[in-house]
Amino acid sequence: MKKAAISACLTGERCRYDGTDNRDNKLLGKLEGWELIPFCPEDHCFGTPRPTMDLVETEQGIKALSNLTGADLSPCVERYARDFFDAHPEIELFIGKDRSPSCGVCSARLYDRNKKLLDAEAPGLMAAEAKGRGIECWDTESYIEAHPTPPIAGS
Ligand code: SF4
Repeated sequence: MKKAAISACLTGERCRYDGTDNRDNKLLGKLEGWELIPFCPEDHCFGTPRPTMDLVETEQGIKALSNLTGADLSPCVERYARDFFDAHPEIELFIGKDRSPSCGVCSARLYDRNKKLLDAEAPGLMAAEAKGRGIECWDTESYIEAHPTPPIAGS
């Protein structure tokens, strides 16, 4: 069976920053036939619940900065992403939660140091690693739109 990496919160894991999930039954229905391999870099690195973070353009490049302390949280997320894909070289598809600074594919928000929005279509850190490896990557909403359910025969 072909393997797809998927943001764990989309499968119902309560790993969002506030301890909730983003379970998406419509998406999961469209992924029948794939073996799903869930991941959550932020839960792995920082636990749940946790403070939020944002992608910020800094003098050292794009970093994920804590909205609580301003600390650079990127290294752990980037290490997790490398280790995850090294451990699963057979993954052919990446489905990320829209707008997440870790998992968003073309939907993460990028700010400057003054919280001015620079880009609303940036890749999150985990998605950037998947893209760099040539894996087919989709945001959830785009994947659903691009894979409409075929009409039922006779209807
Ligand atoms: S880091 Fe990704 S998988 Fe984890 S809660 Fe955020 S969007 Fe979901």
